[in-house]
Amino acid sequence: MPTSPKLQTKGKIKDHMASNEADDGSLRDDPSASDDDSVIHDRANMRDEDEAGMEIAQEREALLARNKGSFQTMSMNDGRKRKGWIVFLGVPLPKPLLYLLAVPPILLILSLISDLTISQVPKHLTTLSNGTHEFYPTVLLISLDGFRPEYLSSHKDLLPNLLSISTAHNGIRAESMQPVFPSLTFPNHWSLMTGLHPESHGIVANNFYDPLFTTDQNTRLGAGDKATQGAQFVYIKEDKSWDSNWWWGEPIWSLVERMKRKSAVIMWPGPPMTSTGISPSYFVPYRKLAPSEKVKTIFSYLDHPISERPEFIASYFPEIDQAGHKGGPNSQGVNDTLKLCDDMLEQLIKGLHERNLQDILNVIIVSDHGMAETSNDRIIYLDDILGEEGVDAIEHKDGWPSVGLRFKEGTNSGYYLEILLEAAEQSNGTFAVYTPETMPERWHFSHGHRIAPIYVVPTIGWAITDHHEHEVLFQGDYQPKGNHGYDNLFPEMQAIFFAQGPFVNKLKEKGALDIYESHDPPILKNFQNLQIFSLVTKLLGLSDVEPLHNGTIGFWNKYLGEE
Ligand SMILES: [Zn+2]
Repeated sequence: MPTSPKLQTKGKIKDHMASNEADDGSLRDDPSASDDDSVIHDRANMRDEDEAGMEIAQEREALLARNKGSFQTMSMNDGRKRKGWIVFLGVPLPKPLLYLLAVPPILLILSLISDLTISQVPKHLTTLSNGTHEFYPTVLLISLDGFRPEYLSSHKDLLPNLLSISTAHNGIRAESMQPVFPSLTFPNHWSLMTGLHPESHGIVANNFYDPLFTTDQNTRLGAGDKATQGAQFVYIKEDKSWDSNWWWGEPIWSLVERMKRKSAVIMWPGPPMTSTGISPSYFVPYRKLAPSEKVKTIFSYLDHPISERPEFIASYFPEIDQAGHKGGPNSQGVNDTLKLCDDMLEQLIKGLHERNLQDILNVIIVSDHGMAETSNDRIIYLDDILGEEGVDAIEHKDGWPSVGLRFKEGTNSGYYLEILLEAAEQSNGTFAVYTPETMPERWHFSHGHRIAPIYVVPTIGWAITDHHEHEVLFQGDYQPKGNHGYDNLFPEMQAIFFAQGPFVNKLKEKGALDIYESHDPPILKNFQNLQIFSLVTKLLGLSDVEPLHNGTIGFWNKYLGEE
């Protein structure tokens, strides 16, 4: 239930209440969403092919023109010009012979250009057959928002299908997976998709202010330009958050499309197009859609002929997170949605078996972060610390439950920083205060103009609010009952990782990843979610062309081979 800073000011309570339905990328009611399946866009990707073709054609034309020009020059300088003859290096030659001599080098150069261009597009890996159809290596990436690893033991009776994936002959799971900081939905989903820390991919919270973003031209100002206006990223407002200039880095689906292959995105938090104009071939925007409907959509893609079939499918399921926010991680709502998602997985597993795809499709199931219980007894009142005047001097509040503060111009922000630091010192560790210079290095959360100059970070399960918000908006009973966004080291904030498919056999053969030996069947030790990006590119044969990322280089090589 993060809300924009503007919505948290007094007098805007009604708006805030309205946006309350939007629980961290989950409960939002998307005004632009449509129930019509026709919103699934099928894009022909002709643009890039046209552009690439144009480039080759232009280079060829230029090359021919250069060669032609040099022969013409020689011909024109020849005083003894004879019809049908040309002088080349002082030797008169019949024109047809010279043209004949020119052909091999031209062909050689054209072939080199062509090879160079083609080598930038990796060849498809070998296809696999399910008995009736050929399949390129294909990855299905599923995100179960807000699924914390503890549910795997505390609610194991509700999760027979998920757990069956980890015990299958070609299945595995990790003890847990570490989210990036802040452990929020949008930053983590974009990290999963780009392999970048939030400071590098730009989505530093679900709601944040960019002082250099200009919405009128959709361009960021240059270093020397004066910022005449900033802009607010609001995750629930697609007319704002879908502006591709918010989203830095290249998502997996863009890489796939750039290599002339097809991708599908079903409600994954992120934009429908990159700043370079690339979109997934198939795109379903966020809207209320039952988990079973999404599985049907996934299978409709997998049933396409090979030339139309996406080789990368990403699908997002918000239900467990919604319930965790509403009632807390130990609520009946969480039980119900765990069962709902496990039923969805039963449908998925059944569909894979019906198509004989269980040893062909690589399925990766993750969550973006965990969930922690909040309490009326664990509240930090910002107005108690800064006073009414200090709270009024705040112009922008980023993020949630951590708060990035930007004070109004002319405010002595150093004075308020001192007050906050002093209060943190006295708080018995319930919250900490950082500037980009003092931010823990392991968060990689200090560079760039999108990181607010002062950050107040509560410890696990604590909330930051003010008396007005608490008494008027929450009516004295803090909402939500569960939250995340805290330090990414806390066990409650960890995510899950499950996988099934041909690559898992390879992992197991190689005595995969520093396996957690005390467990039977073996499970992987905790690893960062930044490694998912290069896992997927590797499985799709795209490692050689993947963009730079913050994952560990070669992380998967010793288990899956160099390529
Ligand atoms: Zn989330």
